[in-house]
Amino acid sequence: MTRPVRALLKWSNLRHNYRVAKRRAAALAYAVIKANGYGHGLEACANALASEADGFAVACVDEGVRIRSAGFDHPILVLQGAYNAEEWQVAADLGLQLVVHHEQQLQDCQGLEFRYPVPVWLKINSGMNRLGIRVDDANSIIIQIEANDNLQLVHVMSHFATADEADDAFFTEQRQIMLKHDWPVPLSLSNSAALMRDESIAEAVSRPGIMLYGSSPLAEKTASELDLRPVMSLQSALISTHEVAAGEGVGYGHSWVAERDTRVGVVAIGYGDGYPRHAPVGTPVNVAGVECPLIGRVSMDMITVDITDVPTAQIGSSVQLWGELVDIDRVAALCGTIGYELYCQVTPRVPRVTLQ
Ligand SMILES: *Cc1c(COP(=O)(O)O)cnc(C)c1O
Repeated sequence: MTRPVRALLKWSNLRHNYRVAKRRAAALAYAVIKANGYGHGLEACANALASEADGFAVACVDEGVRIRSAGFDHPILVLQGAYNAEEWQVAADLGLQLVVHHEQQLQDCQGLEFRYPVPVWLKINSGMNRLGIRVDDANSIIIQIEANDNLQLVHVMSHFATADEADDAFFTEQRQIMLKHDWPVPLSLSNSAALMRDESIAEAVSRPGIMLYGSSPLAEKTASELDLRPVMSLQSALISTHEVAAGEGVGYGHSWVAERDTRVGVVAIGYGDGYPRHAPVGTPVNVAGVECPLIGRVSMDMITVDITDVPTAQIGSSVQLWGELVDIDRVAALCGTIGYELYCQVTPRVPRVTLQ
């Protein structure tokens, strides 16, 4: 038997979730597949969505190059734009669309010759205060872009800081800043959370990411309440079972001590696979179809679970860490993080297996 850890990937669920996004979108939806498709595989995600996605969004030119090299001719938006002149040239040659978030990027492309103008999305800082041009400076930058024959301004975009939170005060403020201004080209504003909030936003292109993978983008709603289905199921199996008596400790530091006589299951998964080391005691782990609590510390290659209440569990029994049986957002919340990070942390040693 090979090591039983697997990330099972159900691509029909990616397409289902993209359709949920499309139904909410005012017009086009570019599927955000940056960071290796949120850990699911960049080319695999592009392939799964190839017949439906209006376009793809990635973080950097390198990721755009990978998608083009894999043979996809969809519109590709590079969310951080070009880092230097060489990247402008590569992007131009491959027909990538670039975000311009800083005046430096316009200086970087001075003096270059492109065969076709590069489509540019001007990023406005409406309050996230990370990337973007201040609203007050937008007009002078727009004039610079429009005067440059190498560039074609296609969209103005912005990104929300608090779209996932129930309190909508700042979200509304950012949205108003963008909607009330008179822009020369259509807007792109929404991430998953903005798309799934109550009202839809009048925009030409939305940019859903996390919802495509089946995690809820909203703090107060679960994925299933939003009709989102998990693409990834992180699976393994029991490799040992044994009994400890009340009073005995389990694992490093004996951070967990049995309060009752306990049957312990050892699962072949650990932080070496990307399972979070800081998962606390009680984190749900599904063993042979039954939810069991994690006990003891997460090791590099193993975790321990309390399987006292699952007498049928034995060596070889299947285990799910997150996926269709265990909502990743629950695991993430217990670990003090978000589903995004758990997906991205699954390490290369975990084989990705396509289910359908
Ligand atoms: C990552 C990203 C998105 C997608 O965000 P989700 O929260 O995953 O939907 C959209 N727009 C920009 C600019 C991003 O960086």
